[in-house]
Amino acid sequence: DHGLSEADPHVRTIIDKEKQRQFRSLELIASENFTSRAVMEAVGSCLTNKYSEGLPGKRYYGGNEYIDELETLCQERALAAFHLDGKKWGVNVQPLSGSPANFEVYTALLNPHDRIMGLDLPHGGHLSHGFMTPKRRVSGTSIYFESMPYRLDESTGIVDYDMLEKTAILFRPKLIIAGASAYPRDFDYPRMRKIADAVGAFLMMDMAHISGLVAASVVADPFEYCDIVTTTTHKSLRGPRGGMIFFKREPVLGVDLESAVNNAVFPGLQGGPHNHTIGGLAVCLNYAQSPEFKAYQKKVVSNCRALADRLIELGYKLVSGGTDNHLVLVDLRPLGIDGARAEKILDMASITLNKNSVPGDKSALVPGGIRIGSPAMTTRGFTEKEFIATADFIHEGVKLTLEAKRSVSGSKLQDFMKFIGSSDFTLMGRVSD
Ligand code: PLP
Repeated sequence: DHGLSEADPHVRTIIDKEKQRQFRSLELIASENFTSRAVMEAVGSCLTNKYSEGLPGKRYYGGNEYIDELETLCQERALAAFHLDGKKWGVNVQPLSGSPANFEVYTALLNPHDRIMGLDLPHGGHLSHGFMTPKRRVSGTSIYFESMPYRLDESTGIVDYDMLEKTAILFRPKLIIAGASAYPRDFDYPRMRKIADAVGAFLMMDMAHISGLVAASVVADPFEYCDIVTTTTHKSLRGPRGGMIFFKREPVLGVDLESAVNNAVFPGLQGGPHNHTIGGLAVCLNYAQSPEFKAYQKKVVSNCRALADRLIELGYKLVSGGTDNHLVLVDLRPLGIDGARAEKILDMASITLNKNSVPGDKSALVPGGIRIGSPAMTTRGFTEKEFIATADFIHEGVKLTLEAKRSVSGSKLQDFMKFIGSSDFTLMGRVSD
């Protein structure tokens, strides 16, 4: 049995190149992070070999005594990391990732074509919250359930709770979803709870982006108000790629959430759990209870604020005017450029972030903004000083984007991409390999 370098040098080389890329670049994608060596060791272990359909103590395969011990430990650590009383809350740690976890909740609580309301994708929501366009039901969620998104108040960049309430009273959803992929503020859980109660809906929070911040109590606690909380495990929480579903133990609206969720995960939508991921997650959730983790999450927020303040000083318009969490959303439209062009130029300078739609955008392919997150570089040891310098680097990239846009003949995105790939652009002197 050979190691990777001998058994498959091609894959080894690709991994090494990706490692170099991660090492070299300023990683500012808000949903990414660098997990620990300890987590990666668990993920790369023999746990990947084992089938264990079912739950601890109730498996469909033999040889699961250690896997039972591991999954039970992972569940206990998950509840402890989020300060939950095991008599009131339970958790399923088997979801393969965030989108499956969300779909599992929908199939647990709803019948096909029941109505749901989540934050609209162009306003910061996630595909799995029910996104559809006027022409197409894009995600499985919008194909199998009837979705009516709520939106931001475009003048403030804050969720329009009044409109959510009015729409919910007319639409009568069975599930309201809090949570987002690109929203720099906290959700108003008490308000959402009131709205859900008024229309007889379940309230779910998808805390994927901010679960690390929730565990460290540096943002509001969704567990106080929601019936179900889902999360990915690989973003601010800094674990392996995976998902979790937390559920209240007592019945809600006549539904036993525990058995509904557990059955939706298996046998509803999944087969054997990924035990190597559950091993890595257990390691991550132990670390999430440490003082170092809390200090890290505080820094994620203060670093993000420093970045936001500097960008504002440099004249940028931020959606909602700032941030309370780990990300900022910059509206580039006042400068006459868009997120797609800026993302590309910054990528060439090894500054990795993503184009993002901002309220009022017409096109999802050429959106008007960029999303910038602080978790990954905070893991790499950045302080406020480095994040201020990062804002200055981004500013240079934006200026170069403007300059390049002016030099392009033609207004299409393809014209721009062609130009910056040409020698004329490298002659502009500042971005080359
Ligand atoms: N939920 C939210 C809020 C997200 O931002 C994401 C991913 O970015 C997901 C769910 C989906 O997670 P995954 O990509 O693991 O399916």
